[in-house]
Amino acid sequence: MSRVTLARRPKGAPVPEDFKLETGTLPTPATDEVLIEVTHLSLDPYMRGRMDDVKSYAPSVDLGGTMTGQGVGLVLESKAEGFAKGDTVTGMTGWASHACLPGSELRKLDPSLPPSTALGVLGMPGLTGWVGLHNFGKPKAGETLVVGAATGPVGSMVGQLAKELGLRTIAIAGGAEKCRLATETFGFDAAIDHRAHDDAASLRAAIAEAAPGGVDIYWENVAGQVLEAVMPLMNVHGRIPVCGMIAWYGGSNIAETNQLPGMWRSILVKRLHVSGFIIFDHWDEFPAFLADVAPKVAKGEIAYLEDVAEGLENAPNAFIAMLKGGNTGKQIVKL
Ligand code: NDP
Repeated sequence: MSRVTLARRPKGAPVPEDFKLETGTLPTPATDEVLIEVTHLSLDPYMRGRMDDVKSYAPSVDLGGTMTGQGVGLVLESKAEGFAKGDTVTGMTGWASHACLPGSELRKLDPSLPPSTALGVLGMPGLTGWVGLHNFGKPKAGETLVVGAATGPVGSMVGQLAKELGLRTIAIAGGAEKCRLATETFGFDAAIDHRAHDDAASLRAAIAEAAPGGVDIYWENVAGQVLEAVMPLMNVHGRIPVCGMIAWYGGSNIAETNQLPGMWRSILVKRLHVSGFIIFDHWDEFPAFLADVAPKVAKGEIAYLEDVAEGLENAPNAFIAMLKGGNTGKQIVKL
């Protein structure tokens, strides 16, 4: 079997030398465990945080340890009740070709849907958009929503659900092609290329033009210049579900956007509801999410994009690129 381990902790943006591809012997499942051959691995922005040795909502990856991650795979051998050879399952396999996991930590997948959807549109990122929009965005028809990383699995779910509920939806995305996908594939009313703006003021002017009535919901995926641009455009009683802050992962770009007193004042004066949330607190909503969204995906009413890298050995480069916007849609590695 092969696996990708954390060779050293990155300084800022990760580089290939921070990872190591290792080979070893195939694990043997113990009682109640299942041996899985991984077919698809999910790459997610949160993994950058796991590479640092800092206290967070989840433990760091140890040096030399397998990079954490969710995979989809085929059961090769089962010693757990309810699982049989040939089943397609998903669980926290790590960046590895094979994994042994307890049956209690695995979910069998509906064979009528492409297995990779369990990692994106019908998995953790899709659930994040669904839970966060309903619980913390509190959308109302006629309102305006702005979301960054809008063609990714979280942003595209948020945008499509908000549109379905009758909101005006504005995508912030990197580059002309992603902006085209935002409006044509995901139905956003407008799309703005944040990379085409040198500073927050210029980006703000573009967003203001697309949102003449101000912004009621800013879905925070990215922070940085986008946050700085949107904050003054927030309407009174606006909501900001704080989902991610990818522009600041790795500690870069923080000094230039340290405008805490102004931000804090906006929250007070505009009575904003700023709600940080971590999806792991909301897994109990997964069945309701799946019941609502899976039929819409099957009917093509909710669109999704996947960016597929080939081979476990290419996972580090795909991950490094994704953090910089190199992915178009949910980043997956096909093994
Ligand atoms: P994406 O697949 O959308 O990938 C990340 C995207 O972030 C890139 O493609 C890029 O898009 C954008 N990006 C990178 N750097 C910047 C920057 N400096 N400014 C603006 N945009 C940038 O990711 P996901 O949909 O999987 O995740 C989106 C966010 O949600 C992340 O912050 C993630 O950490 C967070 N998240 C939080 C969860 C929670 O429980 N709170 C759960 C899941 C995800 P572009 O090229 O368009 O700029």
